[in-house]
Amino acid sequence: RDLIPINHPRRESLLIREKLVEALKDNVLTPSGLIAHGRGECFDYLFGEKTQDFAKKAIEAASATLLLAKNPVISVNGNMAALVPKELIELANLINAKLEINLFYRSEERLKAIKNVLIKNGAKEVLGVDDELTTIPELFSERRKVSKNGIFIADVVLLALEDGDRTEALVKMNKKVIAIDLNPLSRTSKAANITIVDNIIRAIPLMIQKVNELKNYNTGQLREIIENYDNKKIILDSLKFISGRFQEFSLSL
Ligand code: ATP
Ligand code: MG
Repeated sequence: RDLIPINHPRRESLLIREKLVEALKDNVLTPSGLIAHGRGECFDYLFGEKTQDFAKKAIEAASATLLLAKNPVISVNGNMAALVPKELIELANLINAKLEINLFYRSEERLKAIKNVLIKNGAKEVLGVDDELTTIPELFSERRKVSKNGIFIADVVLLALEDGDRTEALVKMNKKVIAIDLNPLSRTSKAANITIVDNIIRAIPLMIQKVNELKNYNTGQLREIIENYDNKKIILDSLKFISGRFQEFSLSL
């Protein structure tokens, strides 16, 4: 941390990398988690490392959806636990959502390490580790295990940095999926009902803010926000933004 100059233009991003390297040492992350983060960074660079309008609109629709949900679940993986543990718990408490650990590379050791991080940060209950698990159809191997009292019965699932196969499987099970993914071209982004093209570092705190703002709205007002939301348009807006950025970059040469 002390080795990164205060005025380094990528300081914020370098500090985040250090957090992830720490998480790797603590078994919270796997090496592929680092690679996934790298892909995200590349997109974040194109978005100016700022939450753009299309993401703000998706965050609003997501917050309304979570407030109306009967059984919302926040699906947690290593990257999320490494970067925004406190914020995930705050959000879960606000919307009465369950936290469930769901890993692409599942191992007892990692499950425990991530659960520990969440408990240390104030989580009371963490599903997906030692409660009753079941399997979701359409998916094979270890990746299809979900908690019987969590994702399996959820009506709304919030996930991030998720693999496309699993997102598609959840959508096929008729769950409303809210995905946070910096890559608007990923299968997850395309399959989700609401795609927040933003960094979890910024998106989760903004969702907390938005939920606090919308929690006094009545059901009709929340429904209206959701009805006026068009996910395809949001993804298209994010792609337009990227093309604009390339043009800007080339003009600056
Ligand atoms: P898919 O399986 O959906 O086609 P993928 O295989 O390209 O996607 P995965 O490695 O499965 O990607 O998932 C990681 C995704 O998370 C990537 O699209 C990456 O851009 C995104 N990502 C990485 N870091 C962050 C972050 N901090 N915030 C939000 N999204 C991120
Ligand atoms: Mg994938």
